[in-house]
Amino acid sequence: MKNKLELIYEGKAKKIFSHEDVEKVIIEFKDDATAFNALKKAQFKGKGELNCLITSKIFEFLHKNGIPTHFIGLRNNNSIIAQKIKIIPLEVVLRNRAYGSICKQTTLIPGSLLKEPLIDLYFKNDELNDPLLTKNRIRLLDIISIEDLELIEKITLSINKLLKDFFLKINLDLVDFKLEFGKNKQGQIVLADEFSPDNCRLWDLNTIDVKMRSLDKDRFRNDLGGLIEAYTEINNRIVNFFSSQ
Ligand code: UDP
Repeated sequence: MKNKLELIYEGKAKKIFSHEDVEKVIIEFKDDATAFNALKKAQFKGKGELNCLITSKIFEFLHKNGIPTHFIGLRNNNSIIAQKIKIIPLEVVLRNRAYGSICKQTTLIPGSLLKEPLIDLYFKNDELNDPLLTKNRIRLLDIISIEDLELIEKITLSINKLLKDFFLKINLDLVDFKLEFGKNKQGQIVLADEFSPDNCRLWDLNTIDVKMRSLDKDRFRNDLGGLIEAYTEINNRIVNFFSSQ
């Protein structure tokens, strides 16, 4: 029974399986896509594989640049091996431009560049619809210590610097992204989850057509079509960049 994988958790876009080493897990990327807190659902053949490959490359790049992550290695084209961690129930969103929910909640004009990167913290809780938090609420709910929160914000800003520059080199504008963090067995805060076009916005600097520039999940959210083509384009640009290094 050594090789029998036990399903530990199934989320909207990923499945977590046990690993024979109890300190590791296997994360499998699904083809399922959801939006608007799973009110809208679909499947895109090949999405899981693309997100897995993109996540692996990005996590390797971040690791090489000093960012602690849960990523250990690629297992096959649609699953990775990662450290078993305790996930912190926060969705950490960083915005370089205003788009999506912030434009519904404020008077910011969609697409406008922010004076400086903005970090928005949401409570990772599907039943409550992932509400926006304040630092005082985080303290009240005892979700995480203020020191750990400050560290997460610092790491998030470093990730933004690294990825904004990286994506610019492959002609992509990093509009915003969502990260999740966890604590590993050693008590270290590490970047967890994934980094893929499912949870970031990437605009193609090679096109001025507003409908065509989104190479991310907005293709599904806004019924623009061509999601797999967009994710494939992101993966190809990343692979080509690293193979030319
Ligand atoms: N995001 C995510 N999961 C969520 C909510 C947002 O990955 O549950 C990502 C989203 O893809 C975008 C960024 O976080 O890159 C900011 O999303 P926003 O708050 O604008 O929410 P949206 O209106 O896109 O759902």
